[in-house]
Amino acid sequence: VEAFNMGALDYMHGDQDPVVWLARSKGLARYKQSTDMLGKLARIDGLTEIPNRREFDRVLEIEWLRAIRSEEPLSLLMLDVDNFKPYNDGYGHDAGDECLRQVALTIQATMRRSADFAARYGGEEFVCVLPDTDQAGAMALADSIRKNIEGLNIPHEYANGDRIVTLSSGVATFVASAQKSPVELVKAADGALYRAKQAGRNCVKAA
Ligand code: GH3
Ligand code: MG
Ligand code: MG
Repeated sequence: VEAFNMGALDYMHGDQDPVVWLARSKGLARYKQSTDMLGKLARIDGLTEIPNRREFDRVLEIEWLRAIRSEEPLSLLMLDVDNFKPYNDGYGHDAGDECLRQVALTIQATMRRSADFAARYGGEEFVCVLPDTDQAGAMALADSIRKNIEGLNIPHEYANGDRIVTLSSGVATFVASAQKSPVELVKAADGALYRAKQAGRNCVKAA
């Protein structure tokens, strides 16, 4: 009873038939595999295989509380692929999907610190949570990501300007108790992203 109360799923004693013992073990292993898989599916975006919006919400909440305790700055990047609608319309949805995978991979590969976290926020928008990172550091990382996306050289003949796929970013930095909630941090990054779009795209703006 004690073991079950602590979360055990089954109990097997030594004098049981080994065949039954094995069959029950296999059943438990299948159960664990499927719950692990469901747990992973709940956290990962199916297209890009990076964490999804739900996982982002969870991580941001944790990092927010940690930032208040540590009194270290917490930065957030909101990233959005430029002119992605014409890309999709021009090259088709499969090419659009492949482009999003490349962008997600590049964002993840550009982050260096183990605490840095990237997720797909939705559609062609991504977010990065950067603990212990001030505004200057966050802008530097955002610009590295921007350059690396440029460096992919994905042709985009339906975009005016550079004719390759580019990315715009908004940066917001939270210093303990200067802002009220994680939601406001997201809003601030979103506002900065809007200004990056207005400034002509393929650039980084800070809130
Ligand atoms: P801006 O430079 O201002 O960001 O313009 P935009 O065209 O990128 O922005 P908009 O929000 O108008 O278009 C986003 C498009 O992203 C709409 C849709 O065609 C495409 N999109 C969203 N999610 C997916 C997806 O999962 N797969 C594919 N292939 N396309 C997607
Ligand atoms: Mg968008
Ligand atoms: Mg866009």
